[in-house]
Amino acid sequence: MPTQMHPETRAIHVDVPDLDGARPLNVPLYQTANFGYDNPEELAEAINRPESFAYLRNSNPTVRALENAISSLEGAAASLATASGMGAIHTVLHTLLGSGDHIIVQRHLYGGTFALLKDLAARFGVDVTYIDAQDPAEVTAALRPSTKALYLETISNPTARITDLPAFFAVGKAAGLTCVVDNTFASPIGCRPISMGADVVVHSSTKFLSGHCDVLGGIAAFADADLHRRVWSRSLETGPIADPFAAWLTLRGIATLGLRMRRHHENADGLARFLSTHPRVAEVHWPGLPTHPGHAVARRLLPHGYGGVFAIDVAGGREETLEFTRRLRLADRAVSLGGFKTLVQQPSATSHRSMDAAGLRAIGITEGTVRIAVGLEHLDDLKADFSAALG
Ligand SMILES: *Cc1c(COP(=O)(O)O)cnc(C)c1O
Repeated sequence: MPTQMHPETRAIHVDVPDLDGARPLNVPLYQTANFGYDNPEELAEAINRPESFAYLRNSNPTVRALENAISSLEGAAASLATASGMGAIHTVLHTLLGSGDHIIVQRHLYGGTFALLKDLAARFGVDVTYIDAQDPAEVTAALRPSTKALYLETISNPTARITDLPAFFAVGKAAGLTCVVDNTFASPIGCRPISMGADVVVHSSTKFLSGHCDVLGGIAAFADADLHRRVWSRSLETGPIADPFAAWLTLRGIATLGLRMRRHHENADGLARFLSTHPRVAEVHWPGLPTHPGHAVARRLLPHGYGGVFAIDVAGGREETLEFTRRLRLADRAVSLGGFKTLVQQPSATSHRSMDAAGLRAIGITEGTVRIAVGLEHLDDLKADFSAALG
């Protein structure tokens, strides 16, 4: 494949196995847990090499095709596909951090990652410093001799804060840290952090990458093949690899990633602008609005769109907010995001329930905050649904 391809094209032209000159147009589903060898010595070698196929906990051709597709999209040396986003994040952090090590993490953080770090701190003595991620000097100020990694998110959940990745990676790399970023909300169509200096990019492929609310999955993409191999070795111990059918469904979704991301962005932008003028909406957290703190950085870093997730603060309190979400007819009340259907949820009751009230306040979440994961419906129908429910 030519090297100078747009990601929309890369998402469609993924590598498929060659069967004696006949190439299947889609990646075949290799639903097999193990592979036989005529030569027992070849088998013995295969189980120790990430490139070979021996046993499903090591790798599988369908899973490998997904990993290669993501490596191509993210500009990575190699990738690891896992059974969930948390499986990818856990395996990466578990490889990078040992007892007594220190990590610097942005405060606006996916709730599951926050819970994982809390557990690593309490049970394994990993030190965590949370920063606002507004000024790269915060990293310098937080550095210790034991600091191993910097962990950021391109676009945060649920208020869509944008992190100035190149500026933070520059400081992290100068200090010798491994720079990890969760790129789930932007997708590789919106942002390719390795080109900005990231060492590891993680995704919940459950979300935009698969896109159809039918599969759970995760990805870790690595700038450097050696770190991939270290994390892969760790994954043999912890066993998070993706199931072939889940990988196949994710590949199927990735083919339309470019089209979907454009529509998610357009719908989110249209709905956010509409809601920003509604008297019952106190605040709209969407980077496309000039009032959003990440507006300027978003325009510079994410020229192809800001994903499709934003939050609103409904005027009133908990009861008014519950009543509003109850009255929605098209948008469903559900967790997760990045699928074709529009979903809403109250972070204080779901994704961020492991945070206390002070922690929630620090990241701008109230009881009136509703996250909207905008789907692919017609924008006019979404506006009508939200308008009717707000009353
Ligand atoms: C959903 C999500 C995760 C966790 O992924 P799972 O596939 O649910 O395990 C991690 N990070 C972000 C930003 C997410 O949205």
